[in-house]
Amino acid sequence: TERTLILIKPDAVSRGYIGEILGRIERKGLSIAALELKNVSDELASSHYAEHAERPFFGSLLEFITSGPVVAAVVEGPRAIAGFRQLAGGTDPVEKAAPGTIRGDLALETQENMVHGSDSAESAAREIALWFPALAAA
Ligand code: ATP
Repeated sequence: TERTLILIKPDAVSRGYIGEILGRIERKGLSIAALELKNVSDELASSHYAEHAERPFFGSLLEFITSGPVVAAVVEGPRAIAGFRQLAGGTDPVEKAAPGTIRGDLALETQENMVHGSDSAESAAREIALWFPALAAA
């Protein structure tokens, strides 16, 4: 089994899609191992997106991710990392995400693209430790 860190971003929370997104995760056969609605501090946002610090959209991305509560979850199951990224679809909801995916069905903008999911086992370990320190230590 495998664990991944997913975020339901502020756009999805404010549009009322928490249930829709958690439902898609459960329908895929993945399970929720931890779940929290959370306001994101600047510190947490910059650590989470540290790899994008030099990108031109970094400031805007931090502003967006701290603009309202997010739902953070640890999602568990066979091939959870790749499985959730398949459910999410590509980063650009119009050019890259296919219909049938979360982004392809529900979003239009590359920044406001509804969800995040860890992209590798290394990222998942780092992000679970960052968002759920108690769980990572257990
Ligand atoms: P995530 O890491 O959130 O799952 P991802 O792996 O699909 O998304 P990344 O390239 O890691 O995409 O970018 C992280 C996030 O930064 C994207 O999900 C999106 O919200 C935002 N982003 C990426 N590229 C752009 C861009 N060109 N303009 C604005 N925002 C962007």
